[in-house]
Amino acid sequence: MATKLNKKQQVALQKRQLYRKIIGIMAIIGVVSFLLYRFTLLDTFITHNPLKTIGQIQKESKDFRDYVCSAQADDMLGKGAELSYVPPAPHVLERYKTNLEATNLVTNASLSSTREGGDPVGFSRSTVVDEVHSYSLNKDEANEPFLRSERKVANASTATWVMDPVALKQTDYYFSVELRSQKPISISLLLTRHDGSQQYRSYTQINGKSSWQKVDGYFQNIEHQYKSVQILAHSTKTGTTDLRKPIVQALKQNPLNNGIVSITFDDGWESIYKFARPLFEKYDVVTTQFVIGSYTAKETGGYMTVAQLKNLQAAGHEIASHSLKHCDQTKLAATDLAYDASETKDVLTSNGLGSAGYAYPYGAYDVETFNELQKLHRYTRTSDEGFNDYYVNPYQIRTQNVTNQTTQAEIDGWLATAKQYNYWLVLVYHRVDESGEYSITVDQLNKHLASIQGSGLTVMTVDQALKAVNR
Ligand SMILES: [Zn+2]
Repeated sequence: MATKLNKKQQVALQKRQLYRKIIGIMAIIGVVSFLLYRFTLLDTFITHNPLKTIGQIQKESKDFRDYVCSAQADDMLGKGAELSYVPPAPHVLERYKTNLEATNLVTNASLSSTREGGDPVGFSRSTVVDEVHSYSLNKDEANEPFLRSERKVANASTATWVMDPVALKQTDYYFSVELRSQKPISISLLLTRHDGSQQYRSYTQINGKSSWQKVDGYFQNIEHQYKSVQILAHSTKTGTTDLRKPIVQALKQNPLNNGIVSITFDDGWESIYKFARPLFEKYDVVTTQFVIGSYTAKETGGYMTVAQLKNLQAAGHEIASHSLKHCDQTKLAATDLAYDASETKDVLTSNGLGSAGYAYPYGAYDVETFNELQKLHRYTRTSDEGFNDYYVNPYQIRTQNVTNQTTQAEIDGWLATAKQYNYWLVLVYHRVDESGEYSITVDQLNKHLASIQGSGLTVMTVDQALKAVNR
């Protein structure tokens, strides 16, 4: 027989059901609020609230290690840095090898022809022969010819066998040479312009070794500005330098079918967010923002916050690294260099930011920074002047640096060159509407972006462009 509840029991049951409903709704609200907070959908709220995202709490509880940081003036940007050597990444070297024009342009590269007196055809002595220099054409144990030059006294001029100028035409060239010296060897390019003036460009330095070492190199002849090149190598100290198998070979024409432009900003200034971001939206462009890790982690005033960077990232911009503390990386001790490289990446990763890209502070890099940074970063952007193409080394991306002295004509010229030769142009900006040479006005940026929009170039972040170029 069914029990019939009396009125009092019915009310009690209804109350219990109501309480259960209220508790259920409150639980759902609680879980949703937590999830919203946890996944920082409430970015704006959090920005103005002492509560921070998980990544920030983690970073702020951990102070970065202190180490000697050599800061330079901003005007060092791009000056001197182009002299550094970065060995080509294996896939880049492979790309050279599969795109070489057949001819080695070096005269008598086999050293088999000799002139009267015994010197090889196509090579000459860099200095007058006297008691402190010597030059010879020798043969090794395997009867292979090689050239030897020697400087016997430290303060004497260097002794170098100089190859005849190699006539240049196209944009991209591969070169290599085999060298042997007990002392460090400096390798340079001597470039001659059409008016006969010359540019001597130090390319790299390698350590001394008793066996042969092969150096692979690459250079560009942008807009055919040089008519010839000579590859030079000499010991930086007293002693002998041996040289054989010199090669200069043209690379097949850059096969990109449209030019690309990347708009990059260094240092992560808040003025970029305030003044440039509306223009990014107006022109519908994406940029790459290279931010300083410790400033991001500690939300240093004047720099973009994590929330602002996340907003940019959500709008399609790339957030990449510009080191942990903006030190000159080439002046850091080895352990500090490794620490800086991994911590700066970690700041971005732990905050859900970043593409594993990196731009060198002051554009300063060398073989040590390359060795360290390529372990954790997909590319490194230098401040070396130039354009990039199919043969770009991801660890030596070239740029054009924009300051408040840069004219609209220069901007238009770079864009036109990139369009004409299907280059990848990387522009470097810093601040907007602040003071100093590295700050441009909103009006300037507006005009630059209008030119970019009208250039016919594809606008891509550095990460996107590298994927398109290295396809
Ligand atoms: Zn910087």
